[in-house]
Amino acid sequence: MVINSVTNPKRILVVDDDTSVLSVWTRFLTSEGFDVVTAATGEEAIQILKDQTFAVMFTDINMPGISGKDLLKYVKQKHSATCVNMITGLVTIEGAVECMQLGACDYLSKPCEKKELTAMAFRCLRHYDQELESRRLKETVFRLEEVDKLKAQFVSNVSHELRTPLFAIAAALEILLQDMYESLSDPMKQLCDVMRNNIERLRRLIENILNFSRLENGTLHIKPRELDLSNLIKETTAGLAPLFARREIDFVFETNPSPFTTRFTADPEQIQHVLINLLGNAIKFTPEKGKVGIKLEDQGNDIRICVWDTGPGIDQHDQKRIFDRFYQVDGSSTRETGGTGIGLSIVKAVVEMHGGNAWVESELGKGSQFYISLPKQPIQKEGETP
Ligand code: ADP
Repeated sequence: MVINSVTNPKRILVVDDDTSVLSVWTRFLTSEGFDVVTAATGEEAIQILKDQTFAVMFTDINMPGISGKDLLKYVKQKHSATCVNMITGLVTIEGAVECMQLGACDYLSKPCEKKELTAMAFRCLRHYDQELESRRLKETVFRLEEVDKLKAQFVSNVSHELRTPLFAIAAALEILLQDMYESLSDPMKQLCDVMRNNIERLRRLIENILNFSRLENGTLHIKPRELDLSNLIKETTAGLAPLFARREIDFVFETNPSPFTTRFTADPEQIQHVLINLLGNAIKFTPEKGKVGIKLEDQGNDIRICVWDTGPGIDQHDQKRIFDRFYQVDGSSTRETGGTGIGLSIVKAVVEMHGGNAWVESELGKGSQFYISLPKQPIQKEGETP
């Protein structure tokens, strides 16, 4: 059975073929409360080390048979946390330095004073404790990372599992309503709209969770290709038309006319996702009958998109944090607007993957302007699919 030195933290093994050194050092160390075990040869030490663990070992370098250097190698293999100190005569200092390169903590020249020996023993003990603590921390970090990976995998699996039936429901509903919708009564139409809106809402939520877990495990890649940004914006806002209508929000799209939009290169799916997040927030936070708009500007090498609203605005302090994951200005469970607090963190990450920037300008009571600036040719980033 290996005796664990943690339950007996001041255990020291002293190895020296000079028995007078063993007896004097045992006396010195025991008087300071150390629990000392001695061995007169390397072979004897190895026998002891087969079933015992020590916080500290002092070993002579030059011994007949197994040398101090070989003993050091053995200990570093079998009890790597043990703090090993080489005992050396002045002539063997070079050997001690070599041992330190092999993992010894320090060396002590013989003969030495009690004060010198015990001070070094206490130093070694501290070193040993720090080593154990750092190993415990590393183990905890490793375990947390494993749990984190499992959670991310779980979230990703669940989102995929939710996506499939949701797509099936959406497709079935559209087939059902294809010829029927116009012939339905107004209350029935309203019910169908409720279904469509909520399917869309769930779809956005699932896409956000999927993108978030891809970001977390480093598997979110952008696939840039040429796209017409004006068209993409029009398509996206058309998809959100029922949301604008339900809150009676006026939508305004401004663009400075330029052929640049057709030459813009980015990942259309991800940019659409960014727009949906920004517009979704603008609609969510703007009171009924308010205004939401998009302004598209050609800035030379970059294009700038501003999604603005006439909502409540965001104060300076919160502006600095809203792009952080999970941050919500009102994080209480009683808040009026729903949300997960991950949308803007995805926006920022996706924009940055394109080599661009995302930021907000806002004043309380005066609405918000969310900006994204994207280079016309995205800068190729590591991990990106060409
Ligand atoms: P979610 O909207 O799901 O809470 P986001 O990451 O998209 O998460 O937004 C984070 C927070 O930023 C929101 O909870 C809200 O407090 C604030 N916010 C975002 N967009 C707006 C906006 N247009 N007007 C006011 N506050 C906003």
